[in-house]
Amino acid sequence: MSKNFVSVDIGGTKISVCFFKKNIIVKKKKFKTENFGPSNLLNIRNFLLNNVNDISSIGIATTGLVYKKKWSTLNRNMIGSFDNFPIVNFFKEKFKIPIFAIGDTHAASLGESYYGNGKDLKDFFYITVSTGIGGAAIINKKVLNSNKKIVGQIGHTVIKYNGNICGCGRKGCLEAYSSGTAIQKNINKKLKLNLKLKELIKNHSKNKIVIDSLNSAASVLSESIVNIHNILGIKNFIIGGSVGLNNVFFNKLNFIIKDKNIKIKLKKAGLRHDAEAFGCLAYSKYN
Ligand SMILES: [Zn+2]
Repeated sequence: MSKNFVSVDIGGTKISVCFFKKNIIVKKKKFKTENFGPSNLLNIRNFLLNNVNDISSIGIATTGLVYKKKWSTLNRNMIGSFDNFPIVNFFKEKFKIPIFAIGDTHAASLGESYYGNGKDLKDFFYITVSTGIGGAAIINKKVLNSNKKIVGQIGHTVIKYNGNICGCGRKGCLEAYSSGTAIQKNINKKLKLNLKLKELIKNHSKNKIVIDSLNSAASVLSESIVNIHNILGIKNFIIGGSVGLNNVFFNKLNFIIKDKNIKIKLKKAGLRHDAEAFGCLAYSKYN
């Protein structure tokens, strides 16, 4: 019997573990990451130890930075504080198989490049808009500067001088304006509510404050997209993440970009929420 490749995607609100048979996800398990800290990683490792005995290798995709097999979180408001945490060795203690860790956006961009909407594109820029915002450039089918510590972190590029404070410590980052966290906070504050963004968009879709907030977040992101286009000359952008994949948000963003009359094409991530998992699979095969 062939062995399973397993991906572990650690995001701002959940961890998703996928079991692959060849190129197909045959089983998926999700864990919440609220109040998440290093001890919670034990649950994931124990889950893997107790549930499978035929793993060929494990690929880990995490939010924040992965450098030399160690993990550091960037926006400490979103997920517990990890500073140079030896994430690969943590899993290697119990599994004597190949294990690697890469950034989640790095993974998602590879997933789209090999199995998703980037299959036919040599160059594109992947942006995830979710709890936070991340990015990665695919140039000639490879992730640009993937061996560097900071790569594609557009969420933490300043879009407004001296603007809103960001969880990374800088002021005016894109993430402080266009991430799901920022949009949700903005709408809840104005409507005096305490709801998740998904519920706000679903249940208050006609509310002017909700519409204006989404428009404003999409407008700010569109400026970042044009910035990237101007710097790298990339025309194709693939948008993923729970907010990026939301029809209302994506359509607004697409409309704003089209209105600029620049040759930029937006597509949604074809693999949707599995882009990171498939990216780990692609990394295990092609890197
Ligand atoms: Zn920031």
